[in-house]
Amino acid sequence: MKNLSLMIAGLGLLIAAPSSAFAKTNIFTCAPEWGALAQEIGGEHVDVYTASNANQDIHHMRAKPSLLAAMRKADLVICSGASLEVGWLPILLNKSGGSQVQEGSIGSIMAADYVPLLDVMESADRSMGHVHPEGNPHVHLDPNNVLIVSKVISDRLSQIDTANAGSYSDRQELFNQKWTQAISLWGNEISSLKGQKVVVYHKSWTYLLNWLGMETIASLEPKPGIPPNASHLEKVLQDIQGQNVKGILVAPFENEKGAKWLSEKSNIPIIELPFTVGGNNQSNDLKAMFDDTIKRLKN
Ligand SMILES: [Zn+2]
Repeated sequence: MKNLSLMIAGLGLLIAAPSSAFAKTNIFTCAPEWGALAQEIGGEHVDVYTASNANQDIHHMRAKPSLLAAMRKADLVICSGASLEVGWLPILLNKSGGSQVQEGSIGSIMAADYVPLLDVMESADRSMGHVHPEGNPHVHLDPNNVLIVSKVISDRLSQIDTANAGSYSDRQELFNQKWTQAISLWGNEISSLKGQKVVVYHKSWTYLLNWLGMETIASLEPKPGIPPNASHLEKVLQDIQGQNVKGILVAPFENEKGAKWLSEKSNIPIIELPFTVGGNNQSNDLKAMFDDTIKRLKN
């Protein structure tokens, strides 16, 4: 009897061993841009879960059961950080995240911790509305930041899944070559955009516009996170008179009502940009998203 149970235990080990040897590393990402980047670097050795789609406003998500279930399995969490996901990510981590994915642990990457932040405020002031006091968290729209984060992901995956470290560093090296070349090609294309002025809905585009050398004249939100209202829109209309503003930038998840009003009054076109991977039909990966963004801005 004793031998039989040993045999069964032995069989169990035999059956369990292959699946653990080939088990993929589970990556939980907050947004499509990080999901796409994690897949580029992880390749066949990772399973990537993306918590939001391009039509969702990542500032305002809920910690729903499907996200809790995905977090429960996570070996690595990749998000923007700088409080962007403060309304829902801490709840997920608290309720179903393992110790390895808590902030500061090996399985946690907050992109904003690794790139130079813009719009850093001297002191956080709640009266300024829904601010991003640690700095603007929408870091993925500067392709240089994407490259920095790709290296962080590769290093971290190599630590978590040492057996496949070679694959992660090879894939990152390949991505590095492809991306460096793309940045240099974009550099030629974007020279005509330098100095051009735009109005934005929310400060979603700060890193993009900083990279392109473009200038933000006004935001449709009176304060970050506060929806546009009539009196603020009237003020924006006055402020932009004679400024040669080229467009009003909106993301797929932003309400176009205020932008439409301003566009009709000022004859300035609305430019809907993808914002992230999947933000329109053309933007099916990170490179395509930047290609499409530049094309729309130039048009
Ligand atoms: Zn924001």
